[in-house]
Amino acid sequence: MSHAAGSAAPALCKSCQGAMEAAGPARLISAGICDSCLASLSSGNKAACREILQAMDAPILLMQPDPRQVFTANGRALALFGRNLAEAEGHRGGEVFGCVHSFTQDGCGKDAHCDDCKIKAAIVGGFTSAASAESTLTIRSGGGDQLHTLAVSAEKAGGYALVRIERFEPQNGGQND
Ligand SMILES: [Zn+2]
Repeated sequence: MSHAAGSAAPALCKSCQGAMEAAGPARLISAGICDSCLASLSSGNKAACREILQAMDAPILLMQPDPRQVFTANGRALALFGRNLAEAEGHRGGEVFGCVHSFTQDGCGKDAHCDDCKIKAAIVGGFTSAASAESTLTIRSGGGDQLHTLAVSAEKAGGYALVRIERFEPQNGGQND
């Protein structure tokens, strides 16, 4: 233990295990991920992106800008929302969450109810800088419709946005039927 006193050992990237430069500007979602791996997140290579997202210790969606939809997601996010990869990749965020407004004809982000969606606003904000939001959404699942608390943080990653799910919990004590 004594050797650690005074000078910290160089931190290793949680994804590629490469040595990281001195911690740059504070990053929330991508903390512990090196610049090289971060750059890979906008490479368009889904498998490479997934590997990096897997190293992040939280449910993460990687959003692409145009059309704005999930590019890929890590296993924690898929488990949280009960989706497989095909049900997440290429889908709107609200479709992955199960938001009732994603089942409308106009769809997630375009329905009239979506104009004031704080989650949408946070994700949009993540394409330019960083943002976070908490909201109550009606989530549709096999058990019916139930109010959920959803909280997200979003952070720019190249031309993409990292979205970390901070909370996704049914309200009213979690009863589902
Ligand atoms: Zn790395």
